[in-house]
Amino acid sequence: MKIEADLVIQNASQLLTCSQEAPDLVGLVRNGWMALRGGEIIAVGDQADVKSSVSLDVAEVIDAAGKVVAPGFVDCHTHLVFGGSRVEEYSARLVTDDPEELRRRNVPTGIMVSVEQTRAASADELYRQSAQRLEEMILSGTTTVESKSGYGLDMETELRILEVNRRLEHNYPVEVVSTFLGAHGWPPSMKKEDYIDQLTKEMIPAVSGAGLAEFCDIWCDEGHYTASECRYVLEAGRGSGFEPKIHTGAYSHIGGADLAAEMKAVSADHLNFTPRESLRRLAGAGVTGVLLPGIDFAVRHPKPFNPVPMIEEGLEIALATNCCPGCWCTSMPLIVQLGCRNHGLSPEQAIRAATLGGAKALLRHEKTGSLEKGKRADIQIWNIDRYEDLVYHLGSPMVDTVIQKGRTIVSGGRPVWNTIS
Ligand SMILES: [Zn+2]
Repeated sequence: MKIEADLVIQNASQLLTCSQEAPDLVGLVRNGWMALRGGEIIAVGDQADVKSSVSLDVAEVIDAAGKVVAPGFVDCHTHLVFGGSRVEEYSARLVTDDPEELRRRNVPTGIMVSVEQTRAASADELYRQSAQRLEEMILSGTTTVESKSGYGLDMETELRILEVNRRLEHNYPVEVVSTFLGAHGWPPSMKKEDYIDQLTKEMIPAVSGAGLAEFCDIWCDEGHYTASECRYVLEAGRGSGFEPKIHTGAYSHIGGADLAAEMKAVSADHLNFTPRESLRRLAGAGVTGVLLPGIDFAVRHPKPFNPVPMIEEGLEIALATNCCPGCWCTSMPLIVQLGCRNHGLSPEQAIRAATLGGAKALLRHEKTGSLEKGKRADIQIWNIDRYEDLVYHLGSPMVDTVIQKGRTIVSGGRPVWNTIS
């Protein structure tokens, strides 16, 4: 008796498995078929492979003729939950980055502006603003998204942000992975050492006790936290059950990547200034390098990240939106386009980094990020007949269908989920 599928996707012009061992990185199958049951992938391949292993007699059918089937995007680095907007700063910086001129024009700048706006927002306001961004992400093909705290920098607001993560995860058909980034900065009213004390002795244990996060993150760069401060905070996090992640090398190289390698962190993110020997250490330690083309574009970064030495050293790479007040981007297709054109990734490297790479950066690679038997049915269907068009059709909406845990949540480019909120 063959197992009965409950949903079949058939006749795809191209199907990208993005499986671990795919020699072309994307695992291209022409005339691709796949069968699902109970939210899980039970068969994938060409028509003969699928029909020989499962029964399709009672399955609902999605015809993907003329389209490309791919894993849902895993957006593994975002600051999804924040209050307000920094559009004034963004607009002003389009014509000048001179701090004197920005001061003269009275333009409020920097992360503390967002901290104030976030502290002032109620849980419901934060939820509403973040839910709108999350809906855009789902419509752009994202089925798993990481969301960091870090615009509160005090116990009350950090917990409020993480509770919004939990509510979003509960109400929307997307997996929201929560990260505690209390060490995104420190409040101007406090000495850094005192805040580190509060982080490690009060905030981390409180977040852990409430079960509100899975990872602990920190920013290691000049003017932010030093590598030894990061070690202290991330070790405290690990002691409370949080695996470490690190923002590092965005504007300097002060040892954050080497610390990530030494601690076998889950990911090291940004890496603009990280030298080859540190990239080699990261690769050797199995750390995933998370690359953020959106922020490099949005801030016109003086030293955009270079993936070439990373790939040569064997580093696993992931692409993410870094959706935040400084880089208001919810679209993984745009990130893939920027990663290719501005940073020299091939379409195959970029698509792989936006799916399986992202899953590795969240320790979800056994569960999602590729289309393989036994994995969760997190799938998207693009309205294009060859995958390179994802990179070529700049800014076009290409996501036709999104399936999460086997359930169709976007169809014909429109939402068909019902939120509970
Ligand atoms: Zn970030």
